[in-house]
Amino acid sequence: MKFKDMGLSPQLLDTINRMNYITPTLIQMKSIPHILKGNNVVGESATGSGKTLAFGCGIVERVLPKKGLQALILTPTRELCQQVKEELRVLSNGNLNILAVYGGVSINKQISKLDIAEVVVATPGRLLDHINRNTVNLSQVKILVLDEADRMLDMGFIDDVEKIVQRTPKNKQTLFFSATISFEIEDIIEKYMNNPITVSGIKMVDPSKLKQVYYDISKNMKLALLVHLLKHERSGLVMVFCNTRRNVDFVVKNLRINGLYAIAIHGGLTQNKRSRTMDSFNESKVHILVCTDVASRGLHIENVSHIYNYDVPHDAKDYVHRIGRTARAGEEGKVINVLCEFDHDNFRKIRDRYSEFSIECFDTPYLKRVNMTSSREDHDNYPRWHR
Ligand code: ADP
Ligand code: MG
Repeated sequence: MKFKDMGLSPQLLDTINRMNYITPTLIQMKSIPHILKGNNVVGESATGSGKTLAFGCGIVERVLPKKGLQALILTPTRELCQQVKEELRVLSNGNLNILAVYGGVSINKQISKLDIAEVVVATPGRLLDHINRNTVNLSQVKILVLDEADRMLDMGFIDDVEKIVQRTPKNKQTLFFSATISFEIEDIIEKYMNNPITVSGIKMVDPSKLKQVYYDISKNMKLALLVHLLKHERSGLVMVFCNTRRNVDFVVKNLRINGLYAIAIHGGLTQNKRSRTMDSFNESKVHILVCTDVASRGLHIENVSHIYNYDVPHDAKDYVHRIGRTARAGEEGKVINVLCEFDHDNFRKIRDRYSEFSIECFDTPYLKRVNMTSSREDHDNYPRWHR
């Protein structure tokens, strides 16, 4: 199936053509025709498989300029919010007023722009603020999208999301997109969607494109191993995952001490700082991004060749989301797990749950001593809200 066989308008086909998308991805092929018909759709497909364009087509085809707020997209993080907004801006050819609404920036500036927006991409907390202040009018919303629905629930946004959904008109079209559909999501689907059509694209991760390895060493050698690998592996952009903010800061600081320029992204940094960090990473000015799960979720970063797990995540699903950052769109990728005694439990959970992954054990290379700050790492993990 081609884009031109899916019922898209000539204008939109033209834009997609100019974006250089030649063939639709599986999830796009399966969902776009239903979305254009106005059906409620649940789309499950791996990170990086083009879900934004799938719901974006529905929005661009149905939302009219200057007719008030007609499409609302909820996303779990600020960065994702900006990315979705940007993709919709391109897709709509600049013909729609699209506003990203998220916390951490002045609410007043958002208020005046809300008056003229036809499409709002929002994180749940900030949107609820606007709802409570009566600064957003949801009465004309005809399309509601929950993007990264699984993560939205994981991050504890369920109550906020429900409150928002309840404020939108009953007869709207609802679209859910998620990398995985859990039982909790099925509950929400049942509660808020009439006769949804469920479509699946590719499942998370193409194992043939992705090499997964692990090293097993003692805690105090972790950093030395990371430094060694970062210096010796041929790689493009690299993401290093930690479980806590404190470990992110620790790793960044110590990589720099050892001559590796890395930048941090986690929930404790200001919005301004996070945006600037993302820009320099996307422009490949910096090759190493050290981050927590929350901050990284749903970001589209091109050309990530290596994912390092400096800490193995608690939740096996986070492992899949992390590794979904690489081997995107047919590129090859490598995942390197740096395990110590504190990671074994989490690692076992991953292997049990995803027994189809083959994760090869590598011997520890000879490691040089590295310089380190006296600051301490966490061994235990903060609760999710602290990441
Ligand atoms: P997801 O939301 O499923 O994680 P995204 O919507 O962020 O994925 O898309 C991932 C990347 O793939 C983006 O850079 C997007 O521009 C690109 N992309 C989307 N659809 C296509 C397509 N049909 N052909 C090529 N690239 C595409
Ligand atoms: Mg997405």
